Amino acid sequence: MLLGAPGSGKGTQGPRLAERLGVPYLSTGDLLRAEAAAGTELGARVAPYLEDGELVPDDLTLEVVDRALADASAAGGFVLDGFPRTVPQADRVGDVDVVLHLALSDDVARQRLAARDEGRADDADPEVIEHRLRVYHGQTAPLLDHYDRRGTLVTVDADRAPAEVAAELDAALDAVTHRTAG
Ligand code: AMP
Repeated sequence: MLLGAPGSGKGTQGPRLAERLGVPYLSTGDLLRAEAAAGTELGARVAPYLEDGELVPDDLTLEVVDRALADASAAGGFVLDGFPRTVPQADRVGDVDVVLHLALSDDVARQRLAARDEGRADDADPEVIEHRLRVYHGQTAPLLDHYDRRGTLVTVDADRAPAEVAAELDAALDAVTHRTAG
């Protein structure tokens, strides 16, 4: 599981880690954006939250991601990006092998999100960026404690360049794999 503020590199590191581990990569942001873009009735209910940088309510989020989560679990493992973001969502996922915390300063987050060019409306508006940072600190960061108490949290400094972060994540995962195998 990847946990970190917007701009911390979850979408860069996640697919790479999934490939390395040979498991599916699951991004709830991607799934929710795809649902909104598909213009379904469910997507129409999701879209306003995405635009405002607000968390999609838990019940609605689960409607979109529950099937993908179940499929990925059945496949024997996954790299999870963007989920859980609330304590009730964490309860839904249950135990995970390792939570990789991509620790990012707000200043670097602001710079990266403002410079990011993926056509995302929620990256284009400075006010929405500020709101997403507040939402992260208010609603998602408390999960760090939750996982720290379970002993599954590994924190890496995500202010650094992607290759440096990647090397540290790989080392952390190797340590966990070794521990699990041994
Ligand atoms: P992300 O691509 O992870 O930055 O997510 C983009 C947006 O999707 C967020 O600002 C939320 O509106 C929504 N979102 C993604 N994951 C979740 C989640 N687990 N719970 C609620 N909303 C989510």
